[in-house]
Amino acid sequence: MKLLLASILLAFAISVSSCMKGESVDLVIHNAQVHTLNGSNSIEDAVAIKDGKIVEVGPERQILNKFSADEYIDAGRKVVYPGLIDAHGHLMAYARQKLSVNLVGCRSYDEMVVRVLKYKARNKTKFIIGSGWDQSLWGEEELPTNEQLSEEFPDVSVALVRIDGHSMLVNDYLLTSTDVIKTVETDPEKYEGGQFLCNEDSIPTGMVIDNAMTPIFALAPKFSTKELTDAIKEIQTELLSYGITGVHEAGIENTDLKLIEKWVENGVLDLNIYGMLIPSEKNIAFARKNGVYTNKNLSIRSFKVYADGALGSRGAFLKEPYSDKPDETGHLTTPFEEIDRIATICEEVGYQMNTHSIGDSTNKLMLQLYKRVFKTNPDHRWRIEHAQIIETTDLGALAAAGAFPSIQPTHAVTDHTWVEKRIGQSRMDRAYSYKRILDEFGIIAIGTDFPFDQMDPFKTIHAATNRMDHENRPVGGFLPEQKISLDECIKGMTLWASMAAFQENELGTIEDGKDATIVIFEDPIATYSGFKNNFANTVFIKGKKVYSVE
Ligand SMILES: [Zn+2]
Repeated sequence: MKLLLASILLAFAISVSSCMKGESVDLVIHNAQVHTLNGSNSIEDAVAIKDGKIVEVGPERQILNKFSADEYIDAGRKVVYPGLIDAHGHLMAYARQKLSVNLVGCRSYDEMVVRVLKYKARNKTKFIIGSGWDQSLWGEEELPTNEQLSEEFPDVSVALVRIDGHSMLVNDYLLTSTDVIKTVETDPEKYEGGQFLCNEDSIPTGMVIDNAMTPIFALAPKFSTKELTDAIKEIQTELLSYGITGVHEAGIENTDLKLIEKWVENGVLDLNIYGMLIPSEKNIAFARKNGVYTNKNLSIRSFKVYADGALGSRGAFLKEPYSDKPDETGHLTTPFEEIDRIATICEEVGYQMNTHSIGDSTNKLMLQLYKRVFKTNPDHRWRIEHAQIIETTDLGALAAAGAFPSIQPTHAVTDHTWVEKRIGQSRMDRAYSYKRILDEFGIIAIGTDFPFDQMDPFKTIHAATNRMDHENRPVGGFLPEQKISLDECIKGMTLWASMAAFQENELGTIEDGKDATIVIFEDPIATYSGFKNNFANTVFIKGKKVYSVE
């Protein structure tokens, strides 16, 4: 009898202690508002994490009673979301921008020149490269000419890339002391879609458009691995401070692919990188050899194709001429036969094709091409990057072609001051029509195109939901009927962005079994009538704490 009682007591003690201890996990975040973004959009209190994965999400008591964690974080009722994804960014371009003259935000031509002069005083170099100027911030609609630049810099090459990355202003020294013009003129096919703008007397103005920039970039100084590594670390911290845990890197050269692989291997990069390869011969060979490729946080299964240029430099390919330049329609920057060849390679190796496609003519062409692929592979998820000008009658083809729209809401509010001049009032119904695009396709991937626009996701939310920039312009919003909801915008930066990268089984929501890639934010994510800053408080990627304000 005594023995029986003892064994009952023992069994009771074991069951109590196992209940007290619970199932062991690495981390429990509790006392939070966990926005799961699951099918019912439920908001829970707590989440348990083990081996980099989410084990369970639920009410406070349920999680605290069930699990015993090595670490507990009391979130103080702060909001928790899946890590944000920038579905279209340029890490490598940003790293190089940081190492060259930063011209972002220049309010005048003079200010641009002053910044270059300061850089020259600090750096002994025969070739100065800078980027980020936007003449619309100087109150100028027309692209600038190089007289002042040539005067200030008579004996050193200067190349200053416009904010959109599709044109540059160079000085006369660069044009006369190098073979760049001859190189482009002697091989027009190779540089098709590129040009040196000239004045009425056929003298180059210093503005270089699209593919004609290639031989100039080839002359620019190369940065060391150490310089690039330091820059990329800074960029990663900046991204994490906004709660961005993943970037779809829109165009990787083969040499940069090797660098990124190294950074992922040796732990320099914690970010999830979804890489789109530039379709060079080396990268095509990589795709043929590796197929769909994953290495730690790096995933590669797509090519980035530049089909046309940008509206700002009139390089976007339009159906009818530019309203402010009736003899120009823009151009394809890659001949259509070449685009078609890359599409065939994508089909062969099982890669996604992500096409920079801005003008309405380009969008129509690409949708026709995607439609063909859709017939054999309805889940190809080939993307239209930017989708800025699409004629209303072509919109239906988005769904019919299975063409996944990848858009950047900040572009609409960055371009709003001059876009009507370029395309005229009668075509404004087809510009930056993100609401219509979303209604048509059902989902959209959202990014920023940093450093060619601002990476701050809260500026993106303001631009998408209010159609205003961070200084709340224009009043009432630009084409306000194209606003999307906060919920849609957040999905575009999480779940839908993960779908645009075939990663919806690992990322995009806070649900059992997915990666513990989650962010505690300082403030609730909401829409405000005026722009409000917000930042991450703590960031986890696959359960590892990679950023914290403390
Ligand atoms: Zn881009």
